[in-house]
Amino acid sequence: MVEKDWCHYSDMPSPNAYIKLKVIFLDIDGVLNVIPVGHDKWGAIFHPHLVNNLKRLIDETGAKIVISSTWRMGNGLEGMIDMWKERDLPGEVIGITPNFMVHFKTTLCRGKEIDAYLEENPEIENYVIIDDDSDMEPHQLNNFVMTSGNTDHLDCVDLGYGLTKECTDWAIKILMS
Ligand SMILES: [Mg+2]
Repeated sequence: MVEKDWCHYSDMPSPNAYIKLKVIFLDIDGVLNVIPVGHDKWGAIFHPHLVNNLKRLIDETGAKIVISSTWRMGNGLEGMIDMWKERDLPGEVIGITPNFMVHFKTTLCRGKEIDAYLEENPEIENYVIIDDDSDMEPHQLNNFVMTSGNTDHLDCVDLGYGLTKECTDWAIKILMS
């Protein structure tokens, strides 16, 4: 049995808890951070134009953010919320996915971690997974936007990485479907 020791949205008492949610499962490296454009106490600073694409995705969909990146591991949910605030990043971080890497003895279990989060948070009505790696579950592929290998996207970084304009358009389509 995997221990359920992660924080999730339903832990937070909210009068609006019954409202159905749209969620972005957000990876960071290869999505917002490709070649660091500087550093602060949290680490690499993200590309401003990729952050702007995230802002458009949130503005157009009202989706909340759940961090699936390894950045969640050192910092936890509170750290991620603090970083979002201090860096004035767009949107609201409401959770982090659980860490199953020890349990499954592999780093390639992000889809399983996302499934566990979805199972624990049935108020999520729609989601998009944004990641540069492809270790998702087969049933998640219609909700998955891959931010690597997109060398034909005009605003990609370093050989096809990053949350480009086209990736953003695709993610909006998924969340609004
Ligand atoms: Mg990544």
